[in-house]
Amino acid sequence: MVQQIEVRTPSHSCLVDITGQVQRAVSQSGIREGVCCIFVPHTTAGVTINENADPTVRSDILRELEKIVPWRDHYEHSEGNAAAHIKSSLVGTSQIVFVSAGQVKLGTWQGIFFAEFDGPRTRKVWLRIVAC
Ligand code: ZN
Repeated sequence: MVQQIEVRTPSHSCLVDITGQVQRAVSQSGIREGVCCIFVPHTTAGVTINENADPTVRSDILRELEKIVPWRDHYEHSEGNAAAHIKSSLVGTSQIVFVSAGQVKLGTWQGIFFAEFDGPRTRKVWLRIVAC
């Protein structure tokens, strides 16, 4: 069964920590050992895993992505959000994490972040938690 969580993104471009929501879904599944597949069904957003201790890491990531893919450039996509589509492809729309003893197994400083590139919006994340 695919579970869905909702993420409200507060600004145009942001990294929203969804570690707690993913952990809640894992806990509700009752699965103790396995994997959790995380998938973002959007073309202008993504999901990434990085440091959740120092928030400046998030702002550094967003600022550097903006340098690589500026919002305004000579894009052909007529909707005006080509940069968001490109950032979505750069960051990627899926992650897989291990589940061990009923917990999402992350490194000490890691968190799971929904990556918004064309917000604010209410977004979806699909999760499939599999025992193995
Ligand atoms: Zn578009």
